[in-house]
Amino acid sequence: MPLPTLQVPRDSPAGRALRNRRVVFVVVAILAFAATHWPKLELAGTGGAPLDKLAHALNFAVLTALLWQTGWVRRLAILPAVMVAWCSLDELSQGIPGLRRTVDLDDWLANLAGIAGSLAFIAALRPAGQGIAALAATRRRCALDSLLAHWTAWLNIATAAALGAAVGAPLGVLLDSWFVRKGPQPWQYGFVGAVLGASVVAHAVLEAGIRSRLRRSHDDRPCLACAAVAPDAAPDAPCRTCGAARHARDWFRPIGLPGSEELRLCMMPVLLGMAAVIVFNFSAIAILTTMRLRSELILRFDTWFTTLPPDARIVADATGVALIGAWTLSRCRVRIAAEVDRGGERCLACGFDLRATAAGAGTGTCPECGEQFVRIGPG
Ligand SMILES: [Zn+2]
Ligand SMILES: [Zn+2]
Repeated sequence: MPLPTLQVPRDSPAGRALRNRRVVFVVVAILAFAATHWPKLELAGTGGAPLDKLAHALNFAVLTALLWQTGWVRRLAILPAVMVAWCSLDELSQGIPGLRRTVDLDDWLANLAGIAGSLAFIAALRPAGQGIAALAATRRRCALDSLLAHWTAWLNIATAAALGAAVGAPLGVLLDSWFVRKGPQPWQYGFVGAVLGASVVAHAVLEAGIRSRLRRSHDDRPCLACAAVAPDAAPDAPCRTCGAARHARDWFRPIGLPGSEELRLCMMPVLLGMAAVIVFNFSAIAILTTMRLRSELILRFDTWFTTLPPDARIVADATGVALIGAWTLSRCRVRIAAEVDRGGERCLACGFDLRATAAGAGTGTCPECGEQFVRIGPG
């Protein structure tokens, strides 16, 4: 998600949204610390804690995403270093005598896997494109801020996640018993199902909220920097709350490609991503089985990997799929943004060449289909 570049006032919607993000991060970080340092804690009723590695990976994936949302780490390049240091200290401090917890290299690797997956999605979700696509990304950020400024939105998202987990967990257990049959550990795929269910449903609710805010914003015309609304202000008067400049084009008509065009642009990345998952799956097996007879190093890696507990192997598989998924998402977003950025010279609705069409105050009308367009820069 894009981060605000201005220091926004605390009492603006963007300021409240930032405060809420920080409160949520601190609460989750304290709970996570308590859970990882509670003396002799083992995940109850699971026999030898077969969810341990999954829980480690999920914990640090969530912490990474939430820390990025706080704005305390301003640059994405710094975030991996902060998180690796954090998870290393977290793992080492579990060795403090008296807690009777263990310091474990596999746990630490699971933490790293969670951080890597989370970072990949953070990078993939950064704003793509320049002029018009960047404006569309700023609008989304503004809509998200005005949503997250209210605790009810957080409550809705948390409820949706809980519902998704409640539906996903039994589905995971069912799929495990039908297809995977990895032995008497249905909880592992139940856990994966719960995480996927929670992510899908929470994302759907968040996206619905953002879209409804976006629709409303075309009438409200909130400030793009701080999301404050001033109903009686002129469209291009500076924001009264934060002083940022406002433009007539800020909320001039929705920006976006027709759905069919987005699908067309996403086709190639999605096919490549699916091919990559298949190659990742089968070639890894093929390379390992043929090469372990010839290479001492690969033999040792293969032996190490096959003796890992099943939950650690699920973490490894899930991380591979997550990295490929994040790459696919990033390619789709970049391709769509590049097409949207051409919207000032080529009508997004009908493809008409708009280079000879005038755009006063950064907005104009397509002479071919009558659709309105935004142009950023000269002209
Ligand atoms: Zn403002
Ligand atoms: Zn047109």
